[in-house]
Amino acid sequence: MPRCMTMRAKDLNRYLGDLGWRRSPIPPESKASPAPIESAGEDSLEGLATTAAGCTLCRLSEKRQTVVFGEGDPTAGVMFIGEGPGADEDRTGRPFVGQAGKLLDRMIFAMGFERDEVYIANVVKCRPPGNRDPKDDEVAACADFLDRQIDLIEPEVIIALGKPASRRLTGTNKPMGALRGRWSSYRGTPLMPVFHPAYLLRNPKAKREVWEDLKLVMRRLDSTTDE
Ligand code: URA
Repeated sequence: MPRCMTMRAKDLNRYLGDLGWRRSPIPPESKASPAPIESAGEDSLEGLATTAAGCTLCRLSEKRQTVVFGEGDPTAGVMFIGEGPGADEDRTGRPFVGQAGKLLDRMIFAMGFERDEVYIANVVKCRPPGNRDPKDDEVAACADFLDRQIDLIEPEVIIALGKPASRRLTGTNKPMGALRGRWSSYRGTPLMPVFHPAYLLRNPKAKREVWEDLKLVMRRLDSTTDE
């Protein structure tokens, strides 16, 4: 997996400053570097995306402009999972391209990756009206798409962004404060819940906690690279 922390140390520190995070948080020894969807049994991301593009399993399909399937490296070591597309994503068909997406880009960069070196998806692939949280039956309707996506990508680590994704993937209703920063696993893949970038835009002080959580992810990736 390409990791470019050393080369990008200056840029990294600038980004961390922008984010309100303290410099050089990485230890020096670190290299820093409802019902099953039958047709979702596709054996490629492209096939799965094509199936998703025609999906009408839940009410979100009625008002969507685009199905936002997800994007990134199909062999990514890190997979980010948010809650669902907003207006910008619905318009463009790409996940996390609005203000929250810009902050996510900086989080990805601060971890030593380019956006196209990770994979970004959502719990639901169609925009919930008015940016409300997806309802349980909508999440359930999209479940097989997300599960197949994860199985095809086989990431080393999943980062759940915000409450709906963290609850869906941990299978609990706990508050974010209790979920974030704690490892669990989803379909055998280590899972780290962190605050959603949109929450960070409203609560910039929480960036510190997110950075702590992302460091846990980076350490885990480094330790598996070293094995
Ligand atoms: N918020 C999300 O959870 N997902 C997106 O794609 C955009 C904003």
